[in-house]
Amino acid sequence: MLKLILTYLSQAGWARSIVQGWGFAKRTAARFVAGETLDEAIAVVKDLNSRGIFTTLDHLGENVTSREEAFLAADEIITIIDRLVNEGVPSGISIKLSQIGLVLDPEICRQNLLKIMESAKERNIFVRIDMEDSSLTQATLDLFDLVREKGYEAYSGIVIQANLFRSQDDIKRLMSGLCRVRICKGAYKEPRTVAFPKKISVDENFDRITELLLDQSLEFELSVTPDGGFSPIPAIATHDQTRIDHALSYANKIGLGKRGLEFQMLYGIREDIQENLIRQGYPVRVYVPYGSEWYPYFVRRLAERPASLWFFISNFFR
Ligand SMILES: Cc1cc2nc3c(=O)[nH]c(=O)nc-3n(C[C@H](O)[C@H](O)[C@H](O)COP(=O)(O)OP(=O)(O)OC[C@H]3O[C@@H](n4cnc5c(N)ncnc54)[C@H](O)[C@@H]3O)c2cc1C
Repeated sequence: MLKLILTYLSQAGWARSIVQGWGFAKRTAARFVAGETLDEAIAVVKDLNSRGIFTTLDHLGENVTSREEAFLAADEIITIIDRLVNEGVPSGISIKLSQIGLVLDPEICRQNLLKIMESAKERNIFVRIDMEDSSLTQATLDLFDLVREKGYEAYSGIVIQANLFRSQDDIKRLMSGLCRVRICKGAYKEPRTVAFPKKISVDENFDRITELLLDQSLEFELSVTPDGGFSPIPAIATHDQTRIDHALSYANKIGLGKRGLEFQMLYGIREDIQENLIRQGYPVRVYVPYGSEWYPYFVRRLAERPASLWFFISNFFR
């Protein structure tokens, strides 16, 4: 119920206008968001890189409502690519297709995406296409197929969510060609007709998909290139120690090397696990979001962990 309310609030324009104006909300969000400007985000990326952590940078924003916003968002993403290259900062980027027009007009989104991919290819930057709620799954996968058909497969990756019934089929289809997949549990409240309602089923599906991805990693004999954020290996994106342990033990069982998989976590969450994995020699990539549109991202993080929500509410009353 709480997750349902927070999911509604994350999408409610009226709640966004109120909360974004609160100084303490901005301060609390700073735990999960690397600032509002690209300069601030690049400083965070540099700090993480200096500690041996790879990064993927996300300019926050989703569900744009005008063509102008969609084109501006695409231009901003290309600016990020330019800055990363000009400053010699090794980072990938993550993008959301609703930010560049998917809900508004799929054709605008297609044009924007291809423009971004061309720029990424020219500059050797890896672009991960985030997965949004299930109403956009098929359209997102279709555009990812297009990106691969157009020759950008080495510079692009997709995200699959373990909470959806369809995900094992999607993974098997994606794995019939070379492609880079990030597996996560799924951040959106989904209807029971398309998603597992119970956490235990999501976790089991996550482990099964992890196994499929690690098997594929062995087959393709992929390798990590630490410069440029290029990530030619499966990304296991979770802060759940049990899921991470399962990935580690399965990788050991099949004889996959430590560079044959990558762990990914969100900025500001479970830094203890990140450091532990790095100490063991596993690649860790942190997802670094930034920008003024931090509200929906922040509320989704609150929804995931009631303790953070209570901290936020108690600060409000203080
Ligand atoms: C790199 C990365 C990229 C992602 N990309 C996408 C995407 O494209 N699409 C999508 O739908 N989802 C995405 N997600 C979000 C993901 O789907 C989950 O919502 C999120 O990762 C929480 O699930 P969990 O796997 O950590 O497991 P959970 O079972 O939710 O959490 C396990 C443990 O992690 C810690 N934890 C989890 N969340 C928080 C939090 N907010 N604050 C503090 N501690 C926390 C707690 O210790 C918790 O017990 C991404 C996640 C990561 C790490």
